Amino acid sequence: MKVLKFGGTSVGSPDRMKKLLDIIDPQERQIVVLSAVSGTTNNLVEISKAYLDGDKSKAASLIKTLKDKYEIFIKELYADVAHLEQGKTVIDYHFDLIAAFSNDLFTNIEEKVILAQGELLSTTLYHIYLTEIGVSSALLPALDFMKIDEDNEPVVDYITEHLTPLLDAKPKINLFITQGFICRNSFGEIDNLRRGGSDYTASLIGAGIKSEEVQIWTDIDGMHNNDPRIVKGTKPIANLSFDEAAELAYFGAKILHPQSVFPAQKYKIPVRLLNTMDPTAHGTLISSESEKGKIKSIAAKDGITAIRIQSSRMLLAYGFLRRVFEVFERYKTPIDMITTSEVAVSVTIDDIRFLGEITKDLSDFGIVDVDVNQSIICVVGDMGANTHGFASRVFESLKHIPLRMISYGGSNYNISLLVKTEDKVEALRSLHNRLFD
Ligand code: ASP
Ligand code: MG
Repeated sequence: MKVLKFGGTSVGSPDRMKKLLDIIDPQERQIVVLSAVSGTTNNLVEISKAYLDGDKSKAASLIKTLKDKYEIFIKELYADVAHLEQGKTVIDYHFDLIAAFSNDLFTNIEEKVILAQGELLSTTLYHIYLTEIGVSSALLPALDFMKIDEDNEPVVDYITEHLTPLLDAKPKINLFITQGFICRNSFGEIDNLRRGGSDYTASLIGAGIKSEEVQIWTDIDGMHNNDPRIVKGTKPIANLSFDEAAELAYFGAKILHPQSVFPAQKYKIPVRLLNTMDPTAHGTLISSESEKGKIKSIAAKDGITAIRIQSSRMLLAYGFLRRVFEVFERYKTPIDMITTSEVAVSVTIDDIRFLGEITKDLSDFGIVDVDVNQSIICVVGDMGANTHGFASRVFESLKHIPLRMISYGGSNYNISLLVKTEDKVEALRSLHNRLFD
């Protein structure tokens, strides 16, 4: 059984919603995961913010604007009065619920309930559409099987246990529709898998039911081998291994929710990134297959800050790095890259909210230098220890660019480099020309 996920723009208008059937084959048994109509989750965030700010009238006006949008949406979606009435009832239900929140007791628990309404709306409206045109389908409530634990980690066994009976109960149904993004937490409250989380839902369902394949449908023809906005002649990567995809997840967050790779990898469920605008194109297939000795992709991330701690106390000492890392842990700031010498260590972060506190605490250990406006460049491929020549090709391509940090050997699948952001474009182009052309 396949799992197909369609994002916000793929259900972004009545027309796009109707066209899903160009891709979905209702004869095949499958689960379709939908995001909210594009823009809706952002609007729901704004509504929640107005409530949090205690601005009831702003909340009310935002709610009205969004509701008006849906009233127009269903007029175009449904052909007959009976289904339009059904759609109207659904919209009233969800918007009454949103409007019923008072600002007196509005916390992030209530906010999550509001954020969940987008996916509940899109799936229910689509289900009614399928009924109207005579395609039989069933709605699967994601809140009945999608769960995260105390650490906000999804529980795949729970999904298996709770989703399987829902599917078994309807042996004659082929087409199951469910909500991306939303889940329950360990308290049983409505929660979500973070922004962009519908991809994650699809791969978790894929893992939970041991699906033959998860398809992520977007408006792009797969993951490209370099940033198409910067480099001419980039191409979709036909095949990526899970290990390579995991390295790229941090960089390709807009195409695929970064966490999505992990359940698929663990349960060996192939993930295909496909393009709704060009449904027969190959896209990108992420699977266990790896092509040894081939560079697959170059990616970059801006907004990086490098911090160097230099200390003679580091020489021949143990426990030094632990104390350095504890500082970052104290301020809940993730470290991305790290390189060390005998008497100094450099790390990078992209969350600089506590930079002042962090550098102050680090200065207890030694001299601290901070470099802002840096970019990480990452070259990904299967470059196991027995292969050779990759690093020299990378360095040859970048011989005219100052390198602040180099990280190789952390995994077999990447070489990361830190450069000034002003050098990034040249670095990406030069690498592209020399590694791919
Ligand atoms: N609707 C949610 C969001 O906008 C989830 C998703 O689209 O993947 O973040
Ligand atoms: Mg997305």
